[in-house]
Order: sequence, then structure tokens, then C-alpha cells
Amino acid sequence: MDKPLDILIIGAGPIGLACGLEAQRTGLDYLIIDKGTLVNSIYNYPLNMTFFSTSDRLEIGGIPFVSIHPKPNRMEAMEYYRRVADSQHLKVHLFEEVQQMEPEGGIYRISTSKGEYRARHVIIAVGFYGIPNMLHIPGEDLPKVRHYYFDPHYYFRQKVVVVGANNSSADAALETWRKGADVTMVVREPTLGRIKYWTKPDLENRIKEGSIKCYFSSRLTEIREGEVDIQTPEGNITLENDFVLAMTGYQPDFSFLEKIGVMLSDDNKRYPQHDPETMETNLPGVYLAGVICGGMDTHVWFIENSREHAVKIVKHISEAGKAQPPQV
Ligand code: FAD
Repeated sequence: MDKPLDILIIGAGPIGLACGLEAQRTGLDYLIIDKGTLVNSIYNYPLNMTFFSTSDRLEIGGIPFVSIHPKPNRMEAMEYYRRVADSQHLKVHLFEEVQQMEPEGGIYRISTSKGEYRARHVIIAVGFYGIPNMLHIPGEDLPKVRHYYFDPHYYFRQKVVVVGANNSSADAALETWRKGADVTMVVREPTLGRIKYWTKPDLENRIKEGSIKCYFSSRLTEIREGEVDIQTPEGNITLENDFVLAMTGYQPDFSFLEKIGVMLSDDNKRYPQHDPETMETNLPGVYLAGVICGGMDTHVWFIENSREHAVKIVKHISEAGKAQPPQV
């Protein structure tokens, strides 16, 4: 039987790639596996999305990310991570989903949609962008309801309701309004939330002048083919509607973590158990990297501050000794 890998990395997002670079530099035998394309989450971000970080803070493995903009956009980030993967000859398998992982004779056996692997160590860098937070209201399953917003042109002259008060809602509301949509925001809280400092005044002014309507302290209660119901502090209202953009955030795939045996905190944060010094989980030789570490607190970790997980993990693995498999 083939020699087991030193490290199998689940997820080819920026942090999974950073782990691959670090493993490669340390001379460890590794493989990165992703269920989608390279940097699959970024690929699914809105078309015109601009990062809040400057490009140097999105760099991995110390490889320069050059952008002529103060903050790079989605296209530039895809270009950068793809060039890094290519130029560094990173070992990546794409469109292959990791489905199960079990301890076996001191190592791990990992089953995917395409085959099986054995590895001494596993890094879980699966992000949180795969599962939207649902509204749990009637009509949410209609095709006109979107939990991922992509391109504003599509909504030209359409009556659009945007649900949520953070960055994604702000971008979707402003972009679609600028491309000719009739936009109404429905915000659960009494004020707007976490919005990029250069976007917030723009949205506030559009709301103030009445170009974008906004119902604060309100919630969408039902979606039908041609209209929606909104509960507002002034009473219930019904609006004509063509599309609902439910920008209510995303959550990690907790069922995957539970299935492979990573313990979660039993409060509503559902933090996956790990040692912050080494990033090792309750499973020996299995590590967490990137935004997955924050559980439901999906705004705590981002590329900027989780790049360092790669160095910590690979250092821990190599110091423990390549020849010493974890006691699984
Ligand atoms: P991800 O990039 O989400 O990668 C996880 C990968 O795992 C995905 O490719 C997914 O397909 C794969 N995967 C999941 N499950 C499996 C499985 N079972 N088998 C195989 N593969 C699997 N951060 C910043 O630092 N600066 C910013 O300006 C910034 N802007 C952002 C803007 C938006 C709109 C969003 C949503 C996030 C932003 N972030 C930003 C956060 C950051 O971009 C993401 O959190 C980043 O992608 C995290 O990287 P990651 O590698 O941890 O996870």
C-alpha cells in the first residue's frame, strides 16, 4: 500500500493554500483537496466585490500580491491565488469532496467523492461560505430568493428586497439600485451593521434621501410569487416584489465537523474545539485553519489574521517529528 501523506489539507481557499505552501517548504508530503474550484468561496463572491484588506494583507507564503488599487477586488484575488498555486506547483485536487475521515492504525483514512487517501495529519480549512443562514419563513424556497448575490445587471427595473444590515447587504442594495432596481432593505436591528467605512456613508445618504427604502427593527415574514410581507414597528405591510436577496450570512458545515469527530462547544457559537497555540483539535494530528475556527462567529477570523495558522500548524507537525505519527 502507498505510503501515507504527511498532511492532507481539506479546502483550497487562501488558508488551505497557505498550509500547502508551508508544508511544501518544510519538505512534507501533502495534498490539498477541494470540493469546488480553486479558492471556491472567492469565486462565488459578488462579481464586483472589493476586499476591505489591502493586497499585502491577503498574501500567502510571503509571495507578493501586486494590485494597482488601494484594496484589491475579487478578480485580482483569483488571479493572485491561481498564479501562486501554479507557480509554486502546489498539489491540489479540485472538484473532489471530502466526505468522511476515520482513524486507522495510527493514521487517518480519508474518503472523498473520488477515492481514498491515508494521511498522518489532516488540516481542516473548509471555511464557512457553503451554507447560508436561512430566514425560515414561508416562500424562502421560491426561485426568486437568492442567498448568494452575484451581478447587479440582472435586477434592472426589478423590485428587490435586500435582507440584512452588513457589508453584503449594503453592497447588494447600492449596486442593484445603481443599475436601476427599486430597492427596499429590511433590517432586523434598529441601525445598519458592520459595513466598510467607505460604503456606509453612501448607503446612509441613499436611505436618507429616500432612494433606497429601509425598514429598521423589521423582519420579512412571508415571500410569495409577486409580493412580500414585512413586520415593521408601525405594523405589517405588503410590498410588490420580484426578487429577495437574503444577505443573512453563512455558517460552517457543522455536520461535517461532527461527522469526522471534531467536538463543538455546546453554546450557540459552536466553536470547534482546538488548542489556539497549535491549532490541534480534540483529534490527535487533526488541525483547524482559517475562518472555520470561529464557529458561528464568522467575522472573527479572516485571511489577514488566519494566514498565520499555516505556520503554527506545520511547525507543530514538523517539530513533533515526521516519523512520529500521532497516537490516534
Ligand atoms: P474559504 O476561502 O472559504 O475556503 C474553504 C474551501 O474549503 C472552499 O474552497 C470550499 O470549497 C472547501 N471545502 C469546504 N468543504 C469541503 C469538503 N468537505 N471537501 C473539500 N473541500 C471543501 N478576509 C480578509 O482578510 N479581507 C477581506 O477583505 C475579506 N473580505 C471578504 C468579503 C466577503 C464578501 C466575504 C464573504 C469574506 C471576506 N473575507 C475577507 C473573509 C475571507 O475572504 C474568507 O473568509 C476567506 O475565503 C477564508 O479563507 P479560508 O481558506 O479559511 O476559507
